[in-house]
Amino acid sequence: MNVVSVDTPGGHYPITIAPGRLDALASAIPADATRIVLVTNPTIDAIYGDRVRQALAASGKPLFDVLLPDGEQYKTWETLQLIFDAMLRQKCDRRAVIVALGGGVTGDIAGFAAASYMRGIRFVQVPTTLLAQVDSSVGGKTGINHPLGKNMIGAFYQPVAVEIDTDVLRSLPAREISAGLAEVVKYGLILDREFFDWCEANAQALRALDPQALGYAIRRSCELKAWVVSQDERESGLRAILNLGHTFGHAIEAGLGYGKWLHGEAVGCGLVQAAELSAEVEGLPREDVERVRKVVAALGCPVQAPDLGEQRWFELMKVDKKAAAGEIRFVLTPEIGRAITRTAPDEAVRAVLSRTVA
Ligand code: NAD
Ligand code: ZN
Repeated sequence: MNVVSVDTPGGHYPITIAPGRLDALASAIPADATRIVLVTNPTIDAIYGDRVRQALAASGKPLFDVLLPDGEQYKTWETLQLIFDAMLRQKCDRRAVIVALGGGVTGDIAGFAAASYMRGIRFVQVPTTLLAQVDSSVGGKTGINHPLGKNMIGAFYQPVAVEIDTDVLRSLPAREISAGLAEVVKYGLILDREFFDWCEANAQALRALDPQALGYAIRRSCELKAWVVSQDERESGLRAILNLGHTFGHAIEAGLGYGKWLHGEAVGCGLVQAAELSAEVEGLPREDVERVRKVVAALGCPVQAPDLGEQRWFELMKVDKKAAAGEIRFVLTPEIGRAITRTAPDEAVRAVLSRTVA
């Protein structure tokens, strides 16, 4: 079992990582909780619902569940209301505790419900996708989509605990694993050269869900994200480095239409493009660009970007949330293990597109 502590102005909490952790969920429920509201979706409920309800019963608290429709397209105001409707109907007071069981979509919606129900109640994150385990469940960003933009409505709100069962990844499609691994290697690129080396050496073990490799990768990712978030909970500076690969990646997702590529797949490709740009303008050695390309491919993500047309690429990167006043701010790595943010000349970006677009 691994425990990582998160320490932010918005709250201190443990991330517990262990195979079989689902069976110990009762230990995450605060002693004074009046109710448990289990928020999940039918897909996850069918695989893990009974086991989780049984584990939570050991807390002795009454429980009811709220099933949300499955999919990013349901990360909406209407779905959020389902949680409030159920909780008000059940007369939940301020000591009710939400347990979010699922991927990033479930965690983001349930977290936002916790942030706003009666101005804030406690919640526990039980992430069940690799992306949610290494990224979305840690750091306190919660929210929903608006028809005019992704993740536009939300709150910074920290859970009281994150409970990670590495065994649940066995029921996840291989593509989802590869997508999550792109976010894992991202942490090495921005903050920890040794971890990058380790990911390179263990790419096959990770894809094969080797329990030890996976446990270590998740722990190290959570530690690195927890460190960044402790320095800059509300993204006024440092936290932006977590967006390495995301300016290119978001352009791919939006340009192809959301859902064509998984978010993590687009980020994987974006990591290669960001490495190319880092070579152009920050002197990242060419052999390191090739290492990035190789490791992204070895983790099972695409390394050739789709042909969106040069002008469209620029438009899409400019509407990225992180672009300020029409200027594109990129996260770049002058060397593996260190990240900066800066703008780059269009010429350099064009050179990168010509080398990375299929
Ligand atoms: P997701 O929540 O849609 O899950 C992907 C699919 O896998 C879903 O169909 C889900 O039901 C299914 N699933 C989940 N766990 C499973 C399991 N163990 N076995 C079988 N199937 C399982 O997608 P995601 O990739 O986990 O999360 C993406 C969301 O996360 C996006 O909305 C994104 O905006 C958000 N996100 C948030 C943050 C943050 O900091 N809050 C960071 C990154 C991403
Ligand atoms: Zn991401």
